[in-house]
Amino acid sequence: MLNFFAVFGNPITHSKSPILHNYALLRAMQDLHKKPKEGKVYPLYGCYGRILLTDSKELRKKFDIHTLSGANITLPFKEEAFAQCDEVRGIAREIGACNTWVREKNGIVVGYNTDAEGFYACIAGLTINNALILGAGGSARAVAMILRAHGIGVSLLNRSQKRLNFFRDHGFECYESENFEPSCSYDLIINTTSAGLNNDFLPCEKGKLEAMFADACYAFDLIYGMPTPFLTLAKAYGLNVSDGKDMLIYQAALALELFCKDIPLMQEATYTQLVSYMREIFV
Ligand code: NDP
Repeated sequence: MLNFFAVFGNPITHSKSPILHNYALLRAMQDLHKKPKEGKVYPLYGCYGRILLTDSKELRKKFDIHTLSGANITLPFKEEAFAQCDEVRGIAREIGACNTWVREKNGIVVGYNTDAEGFYACIAGLTINNALILGAGGSARAVAMILRAHGIGVSLLNRSQKRLNFFRDHGFECYESENFEPSCSYDLIINTTSAGLNNDFLPCEKGKLEAMFADACYAFDLIYGMPTPFLTLAKAYGLNVSDGKDMLIYQAALALELFCKDIPLMQEATYTQLVSYMREIFV
């Protein structure tokens, strides 16, 4: 049976998810049938598209109408994805946002958040005691919760107050740009804002970044595919820098693993294999 998957978002044309998932599905089939018998047709397990969603309230309806077996949900619908699925599992329950839906055999739609684990996979080998997150949006929630789950001290700095309330309510140390007086230095500084995505902005005042970078070891930007002003400055201060490309791949491979968990054949494609397939196509 061919399963259909999609990514929902607005905008959505730029999304790399269809190419990552479709390529990994094809490569998995290719590898799982290494010695095909002549004339025998092997099934393709699934096909992954993209859907522009204009009304967030229609998310679940569209998922059902298109008879999707699974989906990814991106900006700005991750909170709606949390609200509109039947059950939420894992760290998504703390984050309050889902980026992955899986329709289980009994028909229920289960929501997950693979951004969190996808981010952590990028930094798992590093020695980090304290981290500072710049920004307080949906991705900051995922990053904050997973870092705390791994025993890392987390503080947040945002240009405005409103979105910090969620983090204050969950016991994180929070600063607005104008009252930033850190109580410690940070090993890792993470940019989760969209500053630098379509402009040459830094996520906060240059002098503050320079002071942070003087004591830090690592800088991570969730934005991928371009040298952001944030990472360029961090590099100038001698920090080890990473952009969001690996996070994108890891969260996608984790989602594909969830999509395929009830399919005996696809279960043979390990997470590590799915990651390497995705790396082949996203160079
Ligand atoms: P949200 O819209 O939920 O949050 C954006 C945050 O950025 C807010 O805190 C906002 O502050 C802040 N911000 C926006 N513009 C500026 C600016 N010019 N200066 C300072 N702060 C700013 O977005 P998400 O958290 O969902 O996503 C953020 C970024 O992370 C995007 O670029 C996205 O593409 C990327 N991302 C990458 C992933 C990956 O796999 N690599 C996964 C998920 C996200 P305020 O509250 O004041 O508005």
